[in-house]
Amino acid sequence: MPITTFSLGEITLHGLIEDEGPYSDIRKLFPALTPAQLDAARPTLGEALDAADQAVFRYQAYLVRLPGMNVLVDSCIGNDKERPGRPSWHRRHDHRFLGGLAELGLSVQDIDVVMCTHLHADHVGWNTRLENGRWVPTFPHARYLFSARELAHWEAENARTPVAALVDSVLPVVAAGRAELIGSDLELTESLRLLPTPGHTPDHFSVRIGRGRDLAVLTGDALHSPLQLAHPELSPWFDWDPARAAHTRRALLERYCETETLFCTTHFPGCSCGHIRRAEAGFRCDPPKGP
Ligand SMILES: [Zn+2]
Repeated sequence: MPITTFSLGEITLHGLIEDEGPYSDIRKLFPALTPAQLDAARPTLGEALDAADQAVFRYQAYLVRLPGMNVLVDSCIGNDKERPGRPSWHRRHDHRFLGGLAELGLSVQDIDVVMCTHLHADHVGWNTRLENGRWVPTFPHARYLFSARELAHWEAENARTPVAALVDSVLPVVAAGRAELIGSDLELTESLRLLPTPGHTPDHFSVRIGRGRDLAVLTGDALHSPLQLAHPELSPWFDWDPARAAHTRRALLERYCETETLFCTTHFPGCSCGHIRRAEAGFRCDPPKGP
């Protein structure tokens, strides 16, 4: 899997791709999608829709290389996780993710900060790895930053019904003393600030990169498909609060529309980063210029 790289002055941004493939029928994913909307959007969706009308997702993390600090935003699916409900996430055992880091000349020792935009299974997986039958933090020197409100939500859910991703990929980090609980409006450094983008989960956040102005924004799961550029009102069935997610999505797109901020999605296959421009009642994402 290729690594995408963007130079943002003193900051370098890499997309580390763990996997890409069909997720589900796009009509099932977006219950409110009408046949007419799908037909009109079809030519614009490119790799995000396959011939069988399956929505195609990329799974990727972003590595932000700031002067003196390597920050990993989201940590994909991970190895050895029990995810029987989703075969392509279940008991993975490959070298793609850590191999991507190695291609950049980095090892797990070199990650200083790990942060998760939210605590779903495909954003926390590499937080931990299996060692002698125990889940241990993958990045031994990293501070792991979790939203306190997001963590409290999932701990309450887990008390009712076990949440596997929390149990194997978040709580072991807390138990190891590596977790720091933060607000979703944290300013980590002058060049990395969080933006609350709730709706997909209760305290989902996006990550703004750049000193003084947003050269890039990492949008986590505020969007899942380029279909939502034309139709920000369409929420996938799994958004925690679909109406709030839709409101957040439009506000985020408005915020960055007609700016030079690189808008970086997690799950769009093909070109997952670009510049937001207005298009009819919605938006489009133009590929970044240059190499
Ligand atoms: Zn996701």
